[in-house]
Amino acid sequence: MTERLLGTGRSAPVTACQCCGAEGLVSELFLGFLPPVNTMALIGSRPAEQAAYPAEVLRCPACGLVQLGLVVDPRIVFPPDYAYTSGTTKILRENFAQLAAEVPSVLTLAPTDLVVDIGSNDGTLLSNFHGKHKALGVEPTGAHRHAVAKGIPTVNEFFTRELAGRLAKEHGKARLVTAANVFAHIEDVHGIVDGILELLAPDGVFVNESHYLPSLLETLQYDTVYHEHLRYYSLTSLKALLERHGLEPIHAVAIPTHGGSIRTYAARKGAFPVRPSVAAILAAEAQSLSPEAFAAFRRRVSLSKMALHALLWGLKKEGKRVYAIGAPSRAATLVNYVGLDETVVDCVLEVPGSSKVGKYLPGTRIPVVDEKRLFEDPPDAALLLSWHIADELIPKLKAKGYRGAFVVPLPEPRLVG
Ligand SMILES: [Zn+2]
Repeated sequence: MTERLLGTGRSAPVTACQCCGAEGLVSELFLGFLPPVNTMALIGSRPAEQAAYPAEVLRCPACGLVQLGLVVDPRIVFPPDYAYTSGTTKILRENFAQLAAEVPSVLTLAPTDLVVDIGSNDGTLLSNFHGKHKALGVEPTGAHRHAVAKGIPTVNEFFTRELAGRLAKEHGKARLVTAANVFAHIEDVHGIVDGILELLAPDGVFVNESHYLPSLLETLQYDTVYHEHLRYYSLTSLKALLERHGLEPIHAVAIPTHGGSIRTYAARKGAFPVRPSVAAILAAEAQSLSPEAFAAFRRRVSLSKMALHALLWGLKKEGKRVYAIGAPSRAATLVNYVGLDETVVDCVLEVPGSSKVGKYLPGTRIPVVDEKRLFEDPPDAALLLSWHIADELIPKLKAKGYRGAFVVPLPEPRLVG
């Protein structure tokens, strides 16, 4: 367990597809060398030696899986002081409630049936099943305490095949297993699917939610490329992965979380009828994920970088002051790829209490400060680094009293009055 948690102590280049083992992976995008996102220097410290990791996006021509070209040592990606922040935003809470409402259309659960959520976080997803069915969470981080406080039984361990076997023995097999935003992060994805099979009842259903590759391409979310995200799924690649383990997708729906995700229902091959949604989405992906689509994506990413420079140049030339808002992990990718520094962006604002306040944005000298500065000493324009929720953020910041302009950096850089 310790070894799994700590990793091998090395970063590993990806030379063959992590799903199907095929060689000859195609390089589709290279964003340069990125600093580790979760290592932030204190404000006032001098620039010191800094590791950087290639951010190369590879596509498997055999199964379609899109993956990072380097698996960085987990000790670097998740350092001991890794600031875990619970992901229970409104959009996530609504999404999980909607999932629970949708499940009965696929699977009828009895009160005695077991529902297991892998990577159950603070229990937000399971709270929709808890009390109606037997619910059990698996969560390796300290977030499990929040779930336990809500009365949701939660195992504080990494999900492995071994743990799955133990849980099946102790609690019986699960009719429903869920995993939201797990398949992109974990190095041993085959181990997870094996564990799910070990735990899942013969007539059980597995629901997976992953950030959706066609959405990433369509809305230029290249900033979701960083070393915590090892893989970028489509239904095509997910189907290939599941089928290697005797599972098949039986239903799939697009959902709005994380700027566009896909929810996939899967079961043992032949156990459930396969709905038309599966064939429809696969057919759409044959178009949206063609080699030409990737080439167009690469070109649009490059153009968006230059367009953002042009927009910011226009502001800076007139002596305008620009702050940035929000320092999510994706901010490090955008700022480093575009090449923004403290001469362009004075500071990045974060909510009070964030462990990022008082530090520099990775790879830069841009200080992260308390968001009150936005109202006390407002800039002329605010660059939204969580641009994928711009529609939610802009009215909120206006209501709090900010009167300046907004710069939305992607998909097309624009100035919003
Ligand atoms: Zn492959």
